Amino acid sequence: MRYSQLFTKTSKSAPHDAESINARLLEQAGFVRQEMAGVYSWLPLGLRVLRKVENIIREEMNALGAQEILMPALQPKENWLQTGRWDSVDVLFKVPSQTKKEYALGPSAEEIVTPLVQQFVKSYKDLPTSVYQIHWKYRDELRAKSGVMRGREFEMKDLYSFHTAQEDLDAFYVKVTETYLRVYTRCGVDAKVVQASGGVFSEKFSHEFHVETPAGEDRLLMCSSCTFAQNIEVATVKEGDPCSQCGGKIRLTKGVEVGNIYDCGKKYSDAFNFDVSFEDGTQGRVLTGCYGIGVTRLVGAIVEASHDDRGMIWPKSVAPFHVHLISLGSKDAEVAKCVQSAAQELYESLSANGVEVLWDEREGVSAGEKFADADLIGVPLRLVVSEKTLKEDSVELKMRTGQEMRLVKIQDVEREINNF
Ligand code: ATP
Ligand code: MG
Repeated sequence: MRYSQLFTKTSKSAPHDAESINARLLEQAGFVRQEMAGVYSWLPLGLRVLRKVENIIREEMNALGAQEILMPALQPKENWLQTGRWDSVDVLFKVPSQTKKEYALGPSAEEIVTPLVQQFVKSYKDLPTSVYQIHWKYRDELRAKSGVMRGREFEMKDLYSFHTAQEDLDAFYVKVTETYLRVYTRCGVDAKVVQASGGVFSEKFSHEFHVETPAGEDRLLMCSSCTFAQNIEVATVKEGDPCSQCGGKIRLTKGVEVGNIYDCGKKYSDAFNFDVSFEDGTQGRVLTGCYGIGVTRLVGAIVEASHDDRGMIWPKSVAPFHVHLISLGSKDAEVAKCVQSAAQELYESLSANGVEVLWDEREGVSAGEKFADADLIGVPLRLVVSEKTLKEDSVELKMRTGQEMRLVKIQDVEREINNF
């Protein structure tokens, strides 16, 4: 993409109301725009990141054997009355209609998915099965803060599994845990499994997935030596205690919850009388598991985990572009033309070979300004074409994570890029 075609612009100053790093950097770089507290527009650069995160999740869900569907955000009140959650979920948005009816704006989709799957699944032979969606959710959060990490409208991947036997649900739960960890690793963040209690969206206990960051809203107790970790809200240990698993020291830290998985047991199948015929001919109640990933929150968490004082630093797998190509001007109009055409050639050949390039071809913009924008936007690899580099038939290559710049011959650029 040519930079001058982006309708968004970066801004030099932070938005005045941005209280978190992800909100400040994402807004300043023109990835998102806050429309009101907790509600964002996703702009071209931000949407490219969001789509990449979604696709990583989608690939991993499909590999798990789950089937993708799309359920409504506008949901019937009756279903919510049936589970008792119309009155118990404090963050539920209730939408009145001119027909005097009321609807729920889905904060999750158990009330839809359970009766939906029930319509098709009648026998143990139809189970286990699992479905997921990647869709927007609505929660009337008291305080929408932490930028895209706590929205009133946010994107979630929600997966639901249905089983006849507890062992089967347990085995799937373990597979989902492994899948989630793979999702976070592929997105370039290190997430930890944390034991937690249930809550209004869940059952007796759950496991959360946390990215450790000072920007996190949750306080966690983690073992310094092993993987033991608990959310402080449920904790059976306290800071400084010896770890019950390995004797290591328990430390207190902060994390942002980027995923949560629950064994819901019969909670939802009881509410809808979801039975199937078992192998022995009897009727038996279905067991369900519910598994969420906060997709938009994950984008925010990646920024919190990966930035410096100049801007964002995207992991290659979710970066809006692979390469940020900059062509610099010159006082000599002829030279400037040569630089532009060399850059254009490079842009076209890289793009033709599947490299995603953002080419800052703006004229009359200083080198300093272009470099500052590149650092803010945070594409992992920067290439600069200038009068100086062209004298060497080269471009200057720099990783966003490092300081080192080096000249690479133009004909070797493609190979260099494939290696990073
Ligand atoms: P939290 O404890 O942060 O309020 P939750 O436990 O209520 O979240 P779940 O109902 O388990 O969240 O939803 C699944 C995932 O959706 C969460 O792990 C989180 O990553 C994400 N999520 C939940 N609420 C929000 C929100 N208001 N904004 C952005 N993401 C959210
Ligand atoms: Mg939670």
